[in-house]
Amino acid sequence: MSFDDIRKYRRCPRAYRLSVVSDDWRLSLSECMDISLRRTIARADGRRVLGHPVLKDEALAMFRDEWDECVQDSLAGDGQDPMEYFRRGARCIERFVEFTKNSDGSELMSFDVRGVQNLPYGRSVRIRVDEVYRRGDSAVICKYVTEPFESASAGITDEDESLVSALWAVYSLPGIERVVLQWRYLSTGEERECRVRKQSMDEAVENLSREMADMSSDKSFPPRPSESCSLCPHRNLCDSYQTTVSDSVPDRQEMDRVLAEYADLDEKIVALSSRVEMLKGRREALKERIVAYSDSVRRDAVYGDGVVVDIRRYKRAELPKDKTAVISRLKETGQYGSLSMVNYSRLRSDIIRGVADPEIAKMATIIPDIRVRVRRRSG
Ligand code: SF4
Repeated sequence: MSFDDIRKYRRCPRAYRLSVVSDDWRLSLSECMDISLRRTIARADGRRVLGHPVLKDEALAMFRDEWDECVQDSLAGDGQDPMEYFRRGARCIERFVEFTKNSDGSELMSFDVRGVQNLPYGRSVRIRVDEVYRRGDSAVICKYVTEPFESASAGITDEDESLVSALWAVYSLPGIERVVLQWRYLSTGEERECRVRKQSMDEAVENLSREMADMSSDKSFPPRPSESCSLCPHRNLCDSYQTTVSDSVPDRQEMDRVLAEYADLDEKIVALSSRVEMLKGRREALKERIVAYSDSVRRDAVYGDGVVVDIRRYKRAELPKDKTAVISRLKETGQYGSLSMVNYSRLRSDIIRGVADPEIAKMATIIPDIRVRVRRRSG
């Protein structure tokens, strides 16, 4: 279990269950921004430790890549605009570049650290640290805070996570005597630090272990409805939320009737479409026989009982699906203005009559075709 899982469980056990246990791996826009930012920072740090400073434009390009990948797994909340989150993330990246502009990366001991910290009673928790760097005989555990509502003055909201990460550093990093926790607030540009006491770390792991024991004994994962449900990426699968939405729709019965009629019509159209396809196949087979007969009697009209079938042989011009070359040729030769559409019957007709621009004509495929028209005879 990671701290992300624990945070999600604290907000709503049902959301935790839907995200972790079921296949509905969906991110909120806030999570998408957070993940994209951390991945960008990890990539930038990867370059910094090699001695390459990362400039703003380069960092923003990395962030755009990461965002594009992450946003595909996101479900925007009601009324949320993904671009607003993207822009907010881009501003955070600019602050990250500000934070690191005077560093050549040589102080970094590690970045994008993933580890496991054992807890009392045989439990363990996965930790993730953005950056660890050395300052004298201390290790500084740096976390970039991406939430816009968090700030240095408002206090620390992830104290247990930071303290457990500090404990991990004490046991995992050689030659470390002291640990300093550092938070860099990407929304405000503020920074906050504190030294860690052994007693605080011990209390944090004890509390966390007890909390995880409660979580593992939870078999029902109850929903915890709140105002933020409309932003929850799992709301489409959440019975609790769906019930609220259904209750608030006034014409529920009317919608049931509309859905039933839609389903009925949809099924009829599918059935009719397959029947139309079958009838077209039969008509095509009969058309071939009529055309063969008209060829044998050398007539372009075949008379039947109350029916006349006219047969006309003609050529049609098919333009390529990708019209880029056609359009640029039409523009180059000044023909574009006289045609309102490229896929235009006059252009095709000109091609057939041999009066079109030869370069355009070469792009078309000429297909011989036969048109059969039926007339009813009266009397
Ligand atoms: S919609 Fe609300 S109650 Fe349902 S899982 Fe999400 S946060 Fe929990």
